[in-house]
Amino acid sequence: MEMRDGLKRAVAIAMLLAFCLAACAEPEATPETPTPTVADPYREIRKRMVETQIRARGVTDEAVLAAMEKVPRHEFVPPEYLDQAYADHPLPIGYGQTISQPYIVALMTQLLELKGGDKVLEIGTGSGYQAAVLAEITDQVYTVEIIGELEKSAEARLRRLGYDKVKVKHADGYYGWEEYAPYDAIIVTCAPDHIPQPLIKQLKDGGRLVIPVGPPGGYQTLWKITKRGDEVITENMGGVIFVPLLRGKR
Ligand code: SAH
Repeated sequence: MEMRDGLKRAVAIAMLLAFCLAACAEPEATPETPTPTVADPYREIRKRMVETQIRARGVTDEAVLAAMEKVPRHEFVPPEYLDQAYADHPLPIGYGQTISQPYIVALMTQLLELKGGDKVLEIGTGSGYQAAVLAEITDQVYTVEIIGELEKSAEARLRRLGYDKVKVKHADGYYGWEEYAPYDAIIVTCAPDHIPQPLIKQLKDGGRLVIPVGPPGGYQTLWKITKRGDEVITENMGGVIFVPLLRGKR
């Protein structure tokens, strides 16, 4: 009798223990307050853009790939081109100018060999998209635009999207941006017919300049130029098409 009572008590304790353990392991589901998430309907399409247009063509720099996956390109194109924001070609941004093809943006960014903390100058702000990609990699981004209206709207857009540290200037970028020189890297997103010497001058020793050079509308070559002391090393990266580098502030 005693033993049976003892057994009963032991079973009861064991069951209680099992119940407690189960309760601890799996707390009863309580209705959760949904965590507010900012809807980004373009996230998947951007991922696909990176995989199919950029990684597939040989861009390997993970910092560049991550930046291309993060920057909301659709915010940088005119509303009438929204449905083509992630398409594999350049798009008009007004004033006869264009936002470059995503692959070209990624390729040129990779050629700059940026590390976090590098100081980089862009000539040809346009929509501000390339500047935003650079700003995902380093917090020292300077960009110069010759068309006043584009400069103003790009600066407002960059601020609205939180790219607060990018410094934008309305000027003829042929002369670079002397005030903040020298730079670890300079990227030119419009094509002059020769390499502007002020840009070479404003490069640090070991600095990289990525620049398309050639006649307007004609065959242009993308050059990667590395400054080593008094020497420059030039590498031909292939044929490209860019809008021309204009002269004189507009
Ligand atoms: N990088 C831009 C695309 C640039 S299109 C983007 O991501 O959207 C080329 C830009 O270079 C145009 O906006 C054009 O107005 C500008 N540009 C042309 N000549 C220039 C010059 N001398 N200095 C600065 N910007 C110039």
